[in-house]
Amino acid sequence: MDKRKIISDDKNYIANTYARFDIVVKEGHGSKIIDSEGNEYIDCATGIGVNIFGINDEVWKNAVIDQINRVQHVCNLYYAEPQTELAKLLCEKTGAKKVFFGNSGAEANECAIKTARKYSHDKYGDGRYEIITLKDSFHGRTMATLTATGQDAFHRHFGPFLEGFKYSDSDMKGILSCYTEKTCAVMVEAIQGESGVNNLDGEFLKSLEKFCKERDILLICDEVQCGNGRTGHLYAYEAYNLHPDIVTTAKGLGGGLPIGACMLFDKCEFTLSAGDHGTTFGGNPVVCAGALSVIKRLDKDFLLEVQGKGAYLKENISRIKNVKNVSGMGLMIGIETDKPAREVAEKCLKKGLIVLTAHNKVRLLPPLNITKNEIDEALGILKEVISQ
Ligand SMILES: *Cc1c(COP(=O)(O)O)cnc(C)c1O
Repeated sequence: MDKRKIISDDKNYIANTYARFDIVVKEGHGSKIIDSEGNEYIDCATGIGVNIFGINDEVWKNAVIDQINRVQHVCNLYYAEPQTELAKLLCEKTGAKKVFFGNSGAEANECAIKTARKYSHDKYGDGRYEIITLKDSFHGRTMATLTATGQDAFHRHFGPFLEGFKYSDSDMKGILSCYTEKTCAVMVEAIQGESGVNNLDGEFLKSLEKFCKERDILLICDEVQCGNGRTGHLYAYEAYNLHPDIVTTAKGLGGGLPIGACMLFDKCEFTLSAGDHGTTFGGNPVVCAGALSVIKRLDKDFLLEVQGKGAYLKENISRIKNVKNVSGMGLMIGIETDKPAREVAEKCLKKGLIVLTAHNKVRLLPPLNITKNEIDEALGILKEVISQ
């Protein structure tokens, strides 16, 4: 179908919640995307950090197709090998004790919020339910995770919100002013993605961890965006030497199919019991087979390569004229320039490079297996656009 026709039908029939870029994605391979008119692009967005091994990746695709040929869905009333294997591998690699699978980042965070409240209720009874999140955080779009999101822009229109959330500055002074005897958990993104790829301060996170441990407050790390090898560490909290009680992830985990995981560490291993939580689609065997193939490949050598590529990108971006700041870790990069981020992204698109924005930053989330040549091509376009 003709590009203009697709776009006009989209405007007529799709809920008007997205400010889409002017491109109809048709197909791709690796870090290359091809649009409906046959134009090629280098993909530094991966569908917001989702297609973590690029498009049409053979290993991932074979894992998914092999499972489709067996059974496409098994509800959670029965056992199925891919879900079990994925949970086992995640636990072995992280030290988590149990995993709950949902279908998205928001659902993973919903599970974390429910688990934190139940942990506290089981141990301390009523009234200890408050969760501290950080200003500029992003935790999802459902009512609970929207409430958890510490940005005023998200808190219009949809009230009343859930009770029991407080928003702290990203420092201990902020945490202390939010803390009360009702606090049951603190939820943080070690690297805040949506608000501009902001790396949290390591000393703050270590102090926060200590503060939480001393008071039996659960530390929840939202690794929906920064997890699954994105930063050159399997999970970003590892780079900060943290020991969270709950870790949530999604985006890149499924390699392109929807999945969310809530990983429960020692304290809340037994918090959830039969009937406490559930989902129809969560832990789908096809998605889990794909995710299993993703996590298996994120070994130490591969993660070191991601770190190397990230350092190379960052160094070269910081040399571009008009770049004010480069943030992030590994292949999760935020670029502040003297131009509006959307404008930079539109211009990059015209020249064959797909990038994201996050607040005032240009955001790069390329496939983890992007090649050196593709990185150089991307750098060339970024340089042309930003230094103008
Ligand atoms: C994207 C994101 C979410 C929400 O994930 P969905 O899959 O869109 O529900 C939650 N937390 C963080 C840090 C994210 O980046």
